Amino acid sequence: MLTFARRNPRIVNFHGIGVPARELEPGEASYWVSLHRFRDILDRIVCHPDRALVSITFDDGNISDLATAAPELVGRGLDAEIFVLTGRLGQRGSLSVDDIAHLLRLGMRIGNHGYAHSDWTKLTSKQLDAELVASKARLEEICGVPIHSAAIPFGRYNSAVLRALRRAGYDAVYSSDGGCVDTLSYPRPRTSIRQDMSDTALDNILSGQLQPTQLLRRNAAMAVKRWI
Ligand SMILES: [Zn+2]
Repeated sequence: MLTFARRNPRIVNFHGIGVPARELEPGEASYWVSLHRFRDILDRIVCHPDRALVSITFDDGNISDLATAAPELVGRGLDAEIFVLTGRLGQRGSLSVDDIAHLLRLGMRIGNHGYAHSDWTKLTSKQLDAELVASKARLEEICGVPIHSAAIPFGRYNSAVLRALRRAGYDAVYSSDGGCVDTLSYPRPRTSIRQDMSDTALDNILSGQLQPTQLLRRNAAMAVKRWI
């Protein structure tokens, strides 16, 4: 089981880099990583023997995606998929429409993180459509290309959320369940990077070294969320 996991892709997810330029939500601060640590993590990815298996995403559409992270990524020949909240576009500390165009020109990809950073499991089907359908249409208008990927806010989903995502035409959906990715998985688990993560924890994430018991636990938790 461990060998199987090691061959699979792994996705590291960032939220904000450096100093936030907006007021943070409760519990959000630990997901902001210093520029120094961010550079260190990117250097570890670039030098890693499994570099080709590691991909990078960003959630929440913070201005630091462009102002701070993008130059570091481009300078190392890396790219990322940036999941944007359309309800925050142009607000202080968040990406604007022009910033998204800039990120696309730099070779980054754009996906939907919804409109209002809501817990999608708590929404009515009409509210969910606004997060998944209207927000997707807005991003398609901005980017000029179809948007087929979404990152689930707070990693919270259930069978109704997954059905709505499929109905709205999302081929790739990303959660925060941790560990390696089975490419057929819906959603695809990612590991969110926190400032306080140890070097050992980080190395395990990049190497896909989830212990068999951890993998079993994660898969069981994902199965429950898909089913409820
Ligand atoms: Zn988020």
